[in-house]
Amino acid sequence: MLDISLLPQQVEPSDWALVFASRNSVTAMRGTPGSPWTVQQASDLWGLDTLTAVPVGYWQGRGLWAFSIAESQVNQTEQISSNLYSLLGRVDDNLFHAHGRAYQLLHWTRTHRYCGQCGSDTALTEGGRAVLCNACEFRVYPRVSPCVIVLVTRGDRLLLAAAAGFQKRFYSTLAGFMEPGESCEQAVAREVREEVGIEIGNVRYFSSQPWPFPSQVMLGFFADWVSGDLTLNEQEIEDADWFDANALPPTPPMTSISGQLISHFINSR
Ligand SMILES: [Zn+2]
Repeated sequence: MLDISLLPQQVEPSDWALVFASRNSVTAMRGTPGSPWTVQQASDLWGLDTLTAVPVGYWQGRGLWAFSIAESQVNQTEQISSNLYSLLGRVDDNLFHAHGRAYQLLHWTRTHRYCGQCGSDTALTEGGRAVLCNACEFRVYPRVSPCVIVLVTRGDRLLLAAAAGFQKRFYSTLAGFMEPGESCEQAVAREVREEVGIEIGNVRYFSSQPWPFPSQVMLGFFADWVSGDLTLNEQEIEDADWFDANALPPTPPMTSISGQLISHFINSR
């Protein structure tokens, strides 16, 4: 399990390293899928500069660090370069969590190299918890964007939608980013209204899931249909319908909160 209550402060050769080339995690082709390297192994392979290491937490009692390399540095015969989607469900959940956090922190440092307020250089501070502007002392913590995701039901039937633009068509729960100033309940009602034109009520929290694509947290809810007929927003939704619980279309896997919401509803009828 990844422990993030403390962050490692000094890179040791025996520490762990998760190495990313662009959006892909680079791991060894042999051995347990998704396993981290030791810092020593990664340094031998890529000559890593430990000054660029981003502290992630502690993994199995040793410091875990995130590193970036260029895509041209990946050795295609010895290493696998996998995006996070392809690791989800293929590696242990705790290991996926470690990859997800490492990727988010690298993404955060890469996109905050300059101060958003005055444009000067920034550097990690607070032992890796924040980036700090050297000139105006503006401080930025890693950003997490909350998204609501909701399974709306009407009696025994489930509202599921196929998103526009996805090649592999499957039917999922509705989801969207929260807006500043909104409560979760308001965001759920607005998203459902915008995407399929109905009114819902009785919004109940289910569970949450970090979703590192690149830095969301999915907040899962159930809600009941109250009024209205489905009117699809065609820019976002290709198809949506009320599905009988006994005749569901292809739905997302249980590794996603959408799959868990659907399964929970089906099993608790
Ligand atoms: Zn500044």
